[in-house]
Amino acid sequence: MDISYIINEYAEDREDYFRAIAPPIIQTSNFAFKKVDELRQGFVDEYSTWLYSRGLNPTVEILRKKLAALDGAEDCLVFNSGAAAIFASVLANVKSGDHIVSVRGVYSWAQKMFNEILPRFNVSTTYIDGTDINNFKEATKPNTAIYYLESPNSWSYELQDLRAVAQLAKQHNIITICDNSYCTPIYQRPIELGIDLSLQSATKYIGGHSDTVAGVLSGSRKMIERIFNSEYMNIGSGIQPFNAWLLIRGLRTLPARLDRITQTTRQVIAYLEDHPRVEKVIFPFSEYFPQYALAKQQMQGACGLLTFVIKATNIESIELFCESLKHILLAVSWGGHESLIIPGCAAIKREAFNASANAHRMIRLYVGLEEPGYIINDLEQAFNAVTW
Ligand SMILES: *Cc1c(COP(=O)(O)O)cnc(C)c1O
Repeated sequence: MDISYIINEYAEDREDYFRAIAPPIIQTSNFAFKKVDELRQGFVDEYSTWLYSRGLNPTVEILRKKLAALDGAEDCLVFNSGAAAIFASVLANVKSGDHIVSVRGVYSWAQKMFNEILPRFNVSTTYIDGTDINNFKEATKPNTAIYYLESPNSWSYELQDLRAVAQLAKQHNIITICDNSYCTPIYQRPIELGIDLSLQSATKYIGGHSDTVAGVLSGSRKMIERIFNSEYMNIGSGIQPFNAWLLIRGLRTLPARLDRITQTTRQVIAYLEDHPRVEKVIFPFSEYFPQYALAKQQMQGACGLLTFVIKATNIESIELFCESLKHILLAVSWGGHESLIIPGCAAIKREAFNASANAHRMIRLYVGLEEPGYIINDLEQAFNAVTW
């Protein structure tokens, strides 16, 4: 299916709603039946019945079909956060006594689940350096149920060879889950590389306007139906119709926004790589990136999110640099219209700052939709505002 077809037409039956171009927001909690037997059938199979909007909803359905098609998956579920998609995907595939192998550096709330929630149910996690397939082999135990991946991650952009990990997992009957938030299905399709479940925070590029929190989980129809009938319905964290509508709207411009951000990111990286205050730029599509060859092989693009290591001897100058930015905002998240920055030193106590630790001098920059010169000038004046 063409991406343009998926985004503009697929799953939209306009004859059902006055041939309106934009789909309706079916803001209803429940649906009426004419026959008791139809209601009875709804109780038996909620996965294919308009019964109650914690389950299926027609606006959400349009979004669901489009997102599954973009992922090259049979089906997907849309949650009201990426974190809910992560939680459901893992919970659905472990039982007490199981073991998980996760790559290091995954999203913070995934780590919280592995470190604090799952141990209460006797599920343990081993973190590995996922850049080497042998580390998966070594960490695998007879009770390993899941390989949890995030490729690239959202700070240092380490990758996993998704095809190789998927193959290894299949030999051991292990479920593979990959957080694909960095790439979106436009730039990487883990399902097509053999991964069982692909998820993403739709809060980022899919929403694209910093106004909606949502998550997507894609996989085989069998797996998604099973998760629908258990975790999805029980956690009750499905996306609401209005937010689904906002994501359909976001999807219309997704490839155009990614294209634009790709171009701008190249210019910003060229500026940073030449800057005397920048020790290095970390970005999967930079030829200096250690896994550049793998990135080029399994990703169709990279954009927006990059990290640079700043040359600084004290935390004050890093803080002053960040606070001197006039347009680039100091905020979490990414994928919206606005450029954003987070310094690694925000995650440590001020007293703990150690200039010889690269992680403390890392700055994550998200390149938004502004004019390239506008972003570069803002960085330039902030570099100049500090006496390094
Ligand atoms: C933001 C993010 C999430 C969580 O998504 P929410 O929509 O904020 O719940 C998960 N993974 C990655 C890589 C993210 O950047």
